[in-house]
Amino acid sequence: MAANKKLLVLAGDGIGPEVMKQVLRVVDWFAKRRAVRFDLSEGLVGGAALDAHGTPLTDKTLADAIAADAVLFGSVGGPKWDDLPFEKKPERGLLRLRKEMDLFANLRPAIVFEALADASTLKREVVAGLDILILRELTGGVYFGEPRGIETLPNGTKRAVDTQVYTTPEIERVARVGFELAQKRRNKLTSVEKANVMHTGVLWRETVTKLHAKEFSKVELGHMYADNCAMQLVRNPKQFDVIVTDNLFGDMLSDCAAMLTGSLGMLPSASLGAVDPKTGKRHALYEPVHGSAPDIAGKDIANPLAELLSFAMLLRYSFDLADDADLIENAVKTVLAGGMRTSDIMQAGSARVSTTTMGDAVLRQLDKMAA
Ligand code: NAD
Repeated sequence: MAANKKLLVLAGDGIGPEVMKQVLRVVDWFAKRRAVRFDLSEGLVGGAALDAHGTPLTDKTLADAIAADAVLFGSVGGPKWDDLPFEKKPERGLLRLRKEMDLFANLRPAIVFEALADASTLKREVVAGLDILILRELTGGVYFGEPRGIETLPNGTKRAVDTQVYTTPEIERVARVGFELAQKRRNKLTSVEKANVMHTGVLWRETVTKLHAKEFSKVELGHMYADNCAMQLVRNPKQFDVIVTDNLFGDMLSDCAAMLTGSLGMLPSASLGAVDPKTGKRHALYEPVHGSAPDIAGKDIANPLAELLSFAMLLRYSFDLADDADLIENAVKTVLAGGMRTSDIMQAGSARVSTTTMGDAVLRQLDKMAA
C-alpha cells in the first residue's frame, strides 16, 4: 500500500465547485478501489476566499499549497468581483500561487479523443488520434522582464517597453522538463523560439542543444521558429510529440493547439516547479484550462472532464501512477464513445447529459474496468 499523498483541493468559483464535486467522487473511488490513499484537505481561493477572508488567497492556504504534494485547482473569478481593483481580483489568488510555488513549467496536452474528432474546426484526418504536449515556460520572459512600462516623451507622444529576457538556468530547467516528458512519451522534443531575429532565441537554442548533448542525446531533438510552429500546428499537428517554448510563444501556441481539440471543457493542464534535491518532490498545481464560466454556473451543465483529466495528470506527474491515470483517461474515452455529451461537446445523435450524470457515467465505467 502506497503512503498517503497530500492533496490540497481548491475548487474556487463559478463552475469550479461543480466540476470538482464530480472529481472528488472519483478521488473517493480511487481511495476505496486502488492502492493509493490521499490525505485530502480543501481550501478557499479566488472570489470565495475574498468573500470569507477579504483576500483571494490567505497566507494559510498558500502555506498549505506549498506543503502539499499536489494542488488540484478549479477556477476563479466572476462578475461579482469584476469591479474590484487589480490587486484584489480573484485571479490574483491563482497568480500568487503560481509565483510563490515557483511553477515555471506549464504543461498543456492537446489530445483529440476519437469520439470528438469531428468537434474540431480542422478536418478529422488532420486531428484524429492527436496527442501532443505543449510545455510553456511560465515565470520568465517578456511578461516579467525589466524595464517595462509606458513613458511620455518630451514631444508628448508615448513610448512603451517590454523586455524579453532569459538566463541559461531558466532555459535549462524548462528544457530539462521537456526532455524528461519526451522520454515518458514518444521520445521527441521540438524546441521553439525565434533564433533568426531574437537574442533570447539564440541563447535558447544554444542552451537546449548543449543540454541535449550532455544529458539527453537519446531523445530526438528538433528546433523550429515560432511562426513556422504556429503554421505546422494547424497544417500537420501529429508531427509533434512535446514542444518546449518560452512564455510568450507558449501562451499563443498552447491556445492554438487547444483549439485543435475543439472544446475548452476537455482541456487539462499542469504547472510544475523544480525538484527539491532534499526530498525529491516538486511543487505542482493541476487545473482545467477553462475559467469559472459564470454564464453556466449553478446549472449542473458544465463539462467536468477537463477537471477530471487534470486529476489524471496529477496522478501521472506528481504521484507516478501511470496505470491509474490511464484508467481515468480510458474511462473518459469509453464514456464519450458511448455517446454521452455535456452541452459544450454536444453532437447530433448523442445524449445530452448533466455534470452529475457525466460523473455517474465515469464512475460506472471505472467500476467496469476495475472489475
Ligand atoms: P471561461 O473559460 O470561463 O468560459 C468561456 C466559455 O466556455 C463560456 O461560454 C463557458 O460557458 C464555456 N465553458 C468553459 N468551461 C466550460 C466547461 N467546463 N463546460 C462547458 N462549457 C464551458 O472564460 P471567460 O468567460 O473568459 O471567463 C470567465 C471568468 O473566469 C472570468 O472571471 C475570468 O477571469 C475567469 N478565468 C479564470 C481562469 C482560471 O481560474 N484559471 C481562467 C480563465 C478565465
